[in-house]
Amino acid sequence: MSRLPALIVGAGPTGLMMACELARHHIPFRIIDKKPEPAQGSNATWIQTRTLEIFDAIGIADDFLKLGHKCDAINFYVSGKALTSIPLNHIDSCYPFILMLPQSETERLLTKKLDESKIRVERSLELINAQQTDNGVVATIRLADGNTENITSDWIIACDGANSTVRQKCQIPFPGEDIAEQFMVADARMSSSFLPTNEIHVFFDKGTILPEKSTIFGAFPWGSKEYRLNANLYLSHARQTFTPHEVKEIVAERTFGNYIVESVSWISPFWIHSQIVDHMQQGSIFLAGDAAHIHSPAGGQGMNTGIQDAYNLAWKLALVIHGKANPTLLQSYQLERYPVVDKIVEQTDDLTKMMLFDKSFFTKLSKFSKSVSHASVAKKVGMELTQLDIQYQDSPIIDYHEKTSAKSPKQGERAPNVILDNTTQLYDHFRNAQHNILLFSGKTPKKDQLSELVDLQQKISQTFPGLIQTHIVSTENSKEIKHFILDLNTAIHNRYDISHSAIYLIRPDNTIAYYSKKLDMGLLEKFLIQYLEK
Ligand SMILES: Cc1cc2nc3c(=O)[nH]c(=O)nc-3n(C[C@H](O)[C@H](O)[C@H](O)COP(=O)(O)OP(=O)(O)OC[C@H]3O[C@@H](n4cnc5c(N)ncnc54)[C@H](O)[C@@H]3O)c2cc1C
Repeated sequence: MSRLPALIVGAGPTGLMMACELARHHIPFRIIDKKPEPAQGSNATWIQTRTLEIFDAIGIADDFLKLGHKCDAINFYVSGKALTSIPLNHIDSCYPFILMLPQSETERLLTKKLDESKIRVERSLELINAQQTDNGVVATIRLADGNTENITSDWIIACDGANSTVRQKCQIPFPGEDIAEQFMVADARMSSSFLPTNEIHVFFDKGTILPEKSTIFGAFPWGSKEYRLNANLYLSHARQTFTPHEVKEIVAERTFGNYIVESVSWISPFWIHSQIVDHMQQGSIFLAGDAAHIHSPAGGQGMNTGIQDAYNLAWKLALVIHGKANPTLLQSYQLERYPVVDKIVEQTDDLTKMMLFDKSFFTKLSKFSKSVSHASVAKKVGMELTQLDIQYQDSPIIDYHEKTSAKSPKQGERAPNVILDNTTQLYDHFRNAQHNILLFSGKTPKKDQLSELVDLQQKISQTFPGLIQTHIVSTENSKEIKHFILDLNTAIHNRYDISHSAIYLIRPDNTIAYYSKKLDMGLLEKFLIQYLEK
């Protein structure tokens, strides 16, 4: 029985993303799933901008853009009348929209990416036990024929969903609460004479049967006529099944006749559970995605958060497995992701309860509608919704010491993209699965500035060979310098608000880890050797 570096349990979006990333970092691993076939359900339909940027980094964003349906605004209605709209065109990304795509398609595209590395999901393999040993984990797997196999690995990444067997077998608590309201989710073909099909439409009204509760109905287009529908039901007794006729009635009533349902292809009841583990790592086991957190689907954050868990963890695990980083680096997974996930669980839970049960909800909604009419507020709300504002604020592997200018991107935030010309962008230089350093020359470089930068570039590559790609960003052209980015119209200097020379260190997950105005190898090295092995 050979020992594996890593075993991924579960091939939903989180497990598939983890697999794509470990493959990109050349880590040997296996990925198993108990289901004999990939899931066919549409489930999570929202792909947030932050996730699209991650897909861009691994080279699959175009596949998603070809198939997905772009929604560039969210509209709110009260009693059938338009109240307000959140436009997404203000957000700071090349993808200023939410992309709608059934989850089955997201999983298919991630599986296709995995195929490129000749890695297959091993199906009909169910983990039934996980036992940590002194130096790894033994997973007991039930095979399709009923026999069992033990897989020994250094690490297990549990991406096995809300009912995670790994979590249960390792007795990791999953505390939380349920929201006392039943919802219905459906997929339907609908038409509307007025409502744009490239925008999301959410209808609120005061309950007619139970006036202390509001009714919510959301129409989320994923094609010219295809929609995901979501509605609360305020039923006194839970129900498991609904008819297409009932869906048609709900749509007609809640949208005040704005939509006509042509057909209904799928209906499911659902309840909202808000739960999060206290620790996303236990020894050699990591929990990611729904195995670690579940919450209200308000704002379509769930699947995206799981994909981003995997993106945060994979490069750290890869460096440790390759022996290029100290294993303490892995502790930053919990320290970075837990606060992010905790905030999402809390905010989506609070928002859902407010929409459903808060008597002052309509007053709050009216105030919100006034504030969001200002472009700066719309941008802030859009950045939050599309997860572009997620940042790591208290991480042991981010150096927050040096203050940036007010307009510069900050340590812990994502490094923003910059369009350079019709065919190139800054992100093209980051698709290498390594740490990247931007060495800025400043807008008007001093004499000998470029040679100083080249000197630093060489020292970095000699000290951390194969781990860091250092790019010199200058307004002055140079054909001799390797990894040179010409910033002819100062677009990169402007976006990063840099006038004089500076260093930005960007991690493989596109997070800014270090900034300094001092071109000082000693300081940079002192920071990096906290986790990188030279
Ligand atoms: C009806 C519905 C609608 C939803 N709508 C939205 C939405 O609009 N937006 C949103 O963001 N989220 C939505 N979600 C939630 C979203 O689907 C999840 O957040 C997402 O699927 C989580 O991905 P995951 O990979 O972490 O887990 P999952 O997708 O649950 O994948 C877990 C995988 O692990 C496998 N597995 C489980 N146990 C074992 C085992 N013991 N051994 C081997 N394999 C195992 C399972 O077969 C499965 O393939 C919805 C969910 C449902 C059910």
